[in-house]
Amino acid sequence: MNETKPHFSLKNYNTFGIEVKAQDVVFLTQTKQLKDIPNLQNCLILGGGSNVLFTKDIETTVILNQTKGITTIAEYSETIELEIASGENWHELVLHCVKNNWGGIENMSLIPGSVGAAPMQNIGAYGVEIKNVLTYVKAFDLQTLKEVKFTNEDCHFGYRESIFKKEQKGNYFISSIGILLTKTNHKLNTSYGAICEVLQAKNITNPTIADVSQAVVEIRQSKLPDPKVLGNSGSFFKNPVILKSQLEVLKQQFPNIKSFDVDAEHVKVPAGWLIESLGWKGKRVGNTGSHKDQALVLVNFGNAQGSEVKDLSEAIKQSVWDTYQIRLETEVNIY
Ligand code: FAD
Ligand code: NAP
Repeated sequence: MNETKPHFSLKNYNTFGIEVKAQDVVFLTQTKQLKDIPNLQNCLILGGGSNVLFTKDIETTVILNQTKGITTIAEYSETIELEIASGENWHELVLHCVKNNWGGIENMSLIPGSVGAAPMQNIGAYGVEIKNVLTYVKAFDLQTLKEVKFTNEDCHFGYRESIFKKEQKGNYFISSIGILLTKTNHKLNTSYGAICEVLQAKNITNPTIADVSQAVVEIRQSKLPDPKVLGNSGSFFKNPVILKSQLEVLKQQFPNIKSFDVDAEHVKVPAGWLIESLGWKGKRVGNTGSHKDQALVLVNFGNAQGSEVKDLSEAIKQSVWDTYQIRLETEVNIY
């Protein structure tokens, strides 16, 4: 039998630091515990709580995923395949791989949260996404408890999207993932963001994956608010992708608008730029606001209610729409 804790505060289990209560919680250390959880199909699964915003009490059981294990599935002369339990911490996995000189996920250093949530929104940073290394996802169907193995293709990965965040949201417990990493001939990606500048400043001309990981850690620590100090869930919105033709029209009125090519017809506009341009950066509204260094990150100044953060996000969306006719989509999972 699982030990359940009733009326459990989730304040320390979401990085926004929002005070809500769960009907009860189960600390899951082994997947075999799933079968003993009543109404499993209605449960909410939480890893690190770093991509959620709670706007009300959770009137179901919350499963706090603490399953552990990293196993080598196959090893070849140039690559290695690992299977990792979903409750492992993502950044600790990155450090473990960097230490063993296994390449492919170093650009995603210091992303908070669990391994199991990584495929949920196809986590990504500095030009690398989990879909670039993921070989499979193992998951339990919460209705039938049947284990299903999803290939990379089955996951329908997109920009901060997957089948688990869209059509199958809430239907599966992701129990483990497989990833394929390089042992030699690492394909380093240092062209994105400030990685190159940081390496140059250190006079590193031939970087190792450990150098890249360390550079990413330093950039992130210098720019992003630490949730332990200021509650937040990272980027609140996704970067919108718009037609190039719309960008050309916008450029006539806003010549400084930033964009990055996506394909022949589309560009990505940094949501942070749009929000900052409208004066939201660093603006405080009650107990919440947009962070002073990162407009895209909404923060909890102390005792914010989830609904206040949500209201602020709606106001920001509206103002971006009114000025640019661009719809911002929320990245964070709101409950
Ligand atoms: P949670 O918040 O616990 O859960 C998120 C969602 O996934 C919920 O819907 C939950 O029900 C579901 N879920 C969690 N575990 C499972 C499971 N085992 N099975 C099924 N469903 C599950 N994200 C990026 O992509 N790139 C970044 O660079 C990045 N930087 C961040 C920086 C900061 C400071 C913060 C606070 C967040 C950042 N994020 C980033 C967002 C977040 O870290 C990631 O989305 C992360 O993968 C969330 O993991 P988690 O375990 O905390 O998920
Ligand atoms: P940044 O380097 O200041 O860049 C701002 C935005 O421009 C980013 O959102 C990024 O898009 C885009 N960008 C920058 N260089 C690019 C390039 N060469 N090609 C295409 N797009 C480019 O961003 P930042 O805020 O410091 O974040 C750094 C990285 O960490 C980004 O990849 C970001 O996604 C990730 N991050 C994510 C979260 C989250 O919660 N999801 C939080 C913090 C940081 P992309 O976002 O599409 O990469």
